[in-house]
Amino acid sequence: MVIETTKITGGLVIDGTGTPARKMDVLIAGDAIQSVGESIPEKGDVIIDAAGLHVVPGFIDMHGHSDLIIMGNPLCPEKILQGVTTDVVGNCGVSIAPSTEDSIKLYGQVIVNVMGGDKTPPIPDHGKLFERLAEMGHSLNIAALVPQGNIRVSVMGIDTTPAPKDKLDEMKAILDRCLSAGAFGMSTGLIYPPGSDTTTGELIELAKVLKDHGGFYASHVRNEMKGVIDAVEEALRIGREAGVGVEISHLKAAMNDRATPKLLATIQAARDAGADVTADMYPYIAGATSLGAIILPGWLLAKSGPELTRAMVDPAMKKRVYDEALSNLLRFVKISPSFRHFIPRAFVSFVIGLLAKRVIVTKVGVSKEGVAGKRLDAILKTDPGLANEKGLIDKTLALLGREQGDVMIAMFQESEEKTLIPIMKAPFVMIGTDNIIGHPRTWGCYPQLIGTYVRDKGVLTLEEAIRKSTSLPASRLRLTDRGIIRPGYKADIVTFDLATIKDNATYENWTLPPSGIKHVLVNGKLTAKDGVHLKARAGVVLRNKK
Ligand SMILES: [Zn+2]
Repeated sequence: MVIETTKITGGLVIDGTGTPARKMDVLIAGDAIQSVGESIPEKGDVIIDAAGLHVVPGFIDMHGHSDLIIMGNPLCPEKILQGVTTDVVGNCGVSIAPSTEDSIKLYGQVIVNVMGGDKTPPIPDHGKLFERLAEMGHSLNIAALVPQGNIRVSVMGIDTTPAPKDKLDEMKAILDRCLSAGAFGMSTGLIYPPGSDTTTGELIELAKVLKDHGGFYASHVRNEMKGVIDAVEEALRIGREAGVGVEISHLKAAMNDRATPKLLATIQAARDAGADVTADMYPYIAGATSLGAIILPGWLLAKSGPELTRAMVDPAMKKRVYDEALSNLLRFVKISPSFRHFIPRAFVSFVIGLLAKRVIVTKVGVSKEGVAGKRLDAILKTDPGLANEKGLIDKTLALLGREQGDVMIAMFQESEEKTLIPIMKAPFVMIGTDNIIGHPRTWGCYPQLIGTYVRDKGVLTLEEAIRKSTSLPASRLRLTDRGIIRPGYKADIVTFDLATIKDNATYENWTLPPSGIKHVLVNGKLTAKDGVHLKARAGVVLRNKK
């Protein structure tokens, strides 16, 4: 068999380790890098002229969330066109596998609301997931985490009580099976049900299963606002007691900038004491999530769309939903839900009014126009369909009811100076897109990092930004053949023009592809050129090594 060679000539190579850029050629044979040097004598069957461009390892998206989207479109242009070559899926406790007929009925809508895409049939474990991916063929390499939410709903349904021993054993067995198939760890999303209903003790027991597989614990922690320090400490404790590494997902201090120094010091102290702790982040001051998934109770989200709408206009049900939604809101500001009866509605409305000024609604489930793209406070004040509701919390619930629980939001919640930049500069923090409907990071995360935070604002050196996007996530995943441009490593490579690289996506128009990314190679195969996806499906499923 003849192995095709590709030579990338004359580019400024940044190898991904943090070493300064150097003008070098890169020779690729088949799917791997054969040599890197100042002038390589071999000709190469294909020549890529990289004069004036930077040549870097393909980006490893530590927080990819492409699970459901990839099933609908295995080419994942939103990732490939911004230079991502490996996507970590299964984040935040939510994914398409493991799942059963019953769990999809209860949890399918949450999955679709949070991740986008269409419902898929049940996939019982990661062995089956990887078979399906291989049959389809896909452009990205995929590394999967096992989502705790899926496991719990499969075994416990929407029961919110702690799991008894036999159920816990059942959950452990599912996790063990998925890890044996090659998943890299377990993720939790502790602000969404059922994660929000799961005790720390139960999570520690599950995390112990990770140890034998060399897996790590990734967590969207229980509180990213006022309770963020306690929430990160919970994640550190789970890692410590289970004896496994910890990845804090999309690290932030939301509407709590003052906590940032302590947040970073808490993680650094754990690292200094020998804990294997890292974190990821996206380079934007706005977060994004499903408003329904964080406010509404799990039993309500388990209903189909029209059923949910009906339940939320039923007067008897309304009282229960109000009570539970208020409890969920109070948890975010670290007030015990048991205080909810003492808090006047007027005060709740006042707080929601303040928050709503910072929120843009990016997508809704039902209304075709007049809602998406607007600020939440404007919708609550002027939407004629909500005029009959009294306070802002009733209006918010009525909006959620009308939209069948599906309201995606972007929320401006961090100071760039006080929170985003200090987190970005922390050496243990890597980059992940946290791909989600309605947020520009989905199409523009890495160009935003390089264009805005390296070139325009000088926050990071280019070499450090590339390290955070390549070899750092590779080391979290313990990949020994990706994330660095070095002979013997897989040829996942990106070239870009530092002068023109730019995230073009916005909160109003979030699906615009970036500028400046010139070539994207996945396993040696040219997959995108000058912003055009060439439809190659050279991605593979990566499997964790024990
Ligand atoms: Zn998350």
